[in-house]
Amino acid sequence: MLLEGKCALVTGSTSGIGLAIARAFAAEGAAVMLNGFGDRQEIEAIRAEIEATSSAKALYDGADLSKPDAIDAMIARCTAEIGSPDILVNNAGIQFVAPVTEFPPEKWDAIIAINLTAVFHTTRLALPQMRAKGWGRIINTASAHSLVASPNKSAYVAAKHGVAGFTKSVALECAQDGVTANCISPGYVWTKLVENQIPDTMKARSLTREQVINDVLLAAQPTKQFVTPEQVAALALFLARDEAASITGANLSMDGGWTAA
Ligand code: NAD
Repeated sequence: MLLEGKCALVTGSTSGIGLAIARAFAAEGAAVMLNGFGDRQEIEAIRAEIEATSSAKALYDGADLSKPDAIDAMIARCTAEIGSPDILVNNAGIQFVAPVTEFPPEKWDAIIAINLTAVFHTTRLALPQMRAKGWGRIINTASAHSLVASPNKSAYVAAKHGVAGFTKSVALECAQDGVTANCISPGYVWTKLVENQIPDTMKARSLTREQVINDVLLAAQPTKQFVTPEQVAALALFLARDEAASITGANLSMDGGWTAA
């Protein structure tokens, strides 16, 4: 197995893309620290299912990534119970859709805290141990919105552009340490994050649900197909391989051609 003996911390892995990444890493033998919100019983079922597919442990920590102390405690617990993260996947994210003049300041703060600032905290806490081991992988789920913008998503676009820039800086800082840092930038992936923004987009643009899906979301994707969480997980798994040692500071698009246009 590819990741035997490695420990992967995947933020926002109780659903969607993060869950697919956690499953893919566990299936290759990595011990996995899950994180995110949700129903406790459902999360325990997910944790047990993932552990059963792996030769290593799966743990869950419900740290709220908008709280730096909780991030600190999660990394400390991961290190104490399954090992310091060799692979750090910064994936947790939230979205809110509104014109900038109507954007609630508390939603701006939450998006910047969870989608951007948490990436700084996990990275600064995990990197010293990766350097000490001479091996590490930092994989950030950015977005097509790290490269291009859409109206009514100012906070998300700002945060994702920030993640892309932060990733490049970190990649340069650890270029000679055996540690790579990269972004994966998906287009629209059918997850709760996308489903949840449909009602607000309907309101903001006076459209029906079908119009939002076909004329707003898939309009941006030349393939007219949603990306799947498993496709993103397969790319994350490749970045974790030794063969990906020379891929660093990259922002890898998986967006059905969106940003080629
Ligand atoms: P999702 O809503 O299915 O998953 C988000 C995860 O983040 C969940 O596990 C949730 O519990 C967790 N989370 C939210 N707030 C948190 C907090 N404060 N602390 C800890 N965990 C928290 O959404 P998804 O689509 O799988 O999104 C995953 C990542 O992919 C996000 O960073 C998102 O911006 C990015 N992304 C998604 C798409 C898409 O179309 N779905 C496209 C590009 C990028």
